[in-house]
Amino acid sequence: MFKASGVNLLDVPPEQVKSWLDSFDTVISDCDGTLWQHETAIEGVVAVMNALQLRAGKQVYLITNNGLKTRHELWQRAQNLGFELPSEEHIISPTQTIVDYLKQCATFDSTKKVFVIGNTAIARELKAAGIESFGAGEADQLQPDDTWQQFVQRELTQPAAAEHVGAVVVGWDEHFSYCKVARACHILSSNESCAFLATNKDEVHRYPKFAMPGTGAFVSAIETCAQREATEMGKPNPLVIQSLIDAAALQPERTLMIGDCPKVDVAFARNCNMQSLLVGTGNYQLETLCGKQLPMPDVYLPRLGNLLPYI
Ligand SMILES: [Mg+2]
Repeated sequence: MFKASGVNLLDVPPEQVKSWLDSFDTVISDCDGTLWQHETAIEGVVAVMNALQLRAGKQVYLITNNGLKTRHELWQRAQNLGFELPSEEHIISPTQTIVDYLKQCATFDSTKKVFVIGNTAIARELKAAGIESFGAGEADQLQPDDTWQQFVQRELTQPAAAEHVGAVVVGWDEHFSYCKVARACHILSSNESCAFLATNKDEVHRYPKFAMPGTGAFVSAIETCAQREATEMGKPNPLVIQSLIDAAALQPERTLMIGDCPKVDVAFARNCNMQSLLVGTGNYQLETLCGKQLPMPDVYLPRLGNLLPYI
């Protein structure tokens, strides 16, 4: 209806907004910057998401590229903030997508372990699915009085060092280190059948006063030395909703994607053939998109809470 127009819904006649709301029966919403900031829900969003589900009868899913919590932990956080989601199946998270991918991957040998560069949530999600892993959290640091040469000699020269690994998974890792990259490089270079997955490839997280490297920065370092490309288990890869499409749980052309980041959320909507609503509660407002090489959303609202009167 508003294809890539970037129109502000507050400038559209209410009847037209209501007719646009009728054009979809599933809503997928990004979390950070769209529904919540850290542990606090953004004003008005809980009422909107619950009204979309309970009053308007839409199927509602929350989606995140955040690999720092398991799907169940994210569902608990959503519930604690007041979002009424019927089950954790309504959370789309990279940790769960990784598990689903490995379980369906014909070349993944489930008797082998997964090497995790990232948060322990990835290890917890794998373990709950019966997949063993190692490396998550603080592991792979140099020991006291150790040198990187001693690390390589001790850890990477035994034949089993790469052969017993079925997948390398990379997520955001505050303990990212040379030793972790060296191990990943060794495994991926010497074991072609090993899967190479990333929770997401978000390059940078921008805040008003500083910027922090995103998972994409870690992934790029390993892709460069291993000379292999990681498969992205988060937005904007359409693979993350393929299981819902296969199960006929959603029709992309009748689905609305809500988010705060054009490069990730609007691009994801386009890649999946879904409609897109950009909200201005993150780092991008409509006026800041002009003149930039960023995908234009179908529609825009300064805040998701602005939608409530139309539902
Ligand atoms: Mg976001």
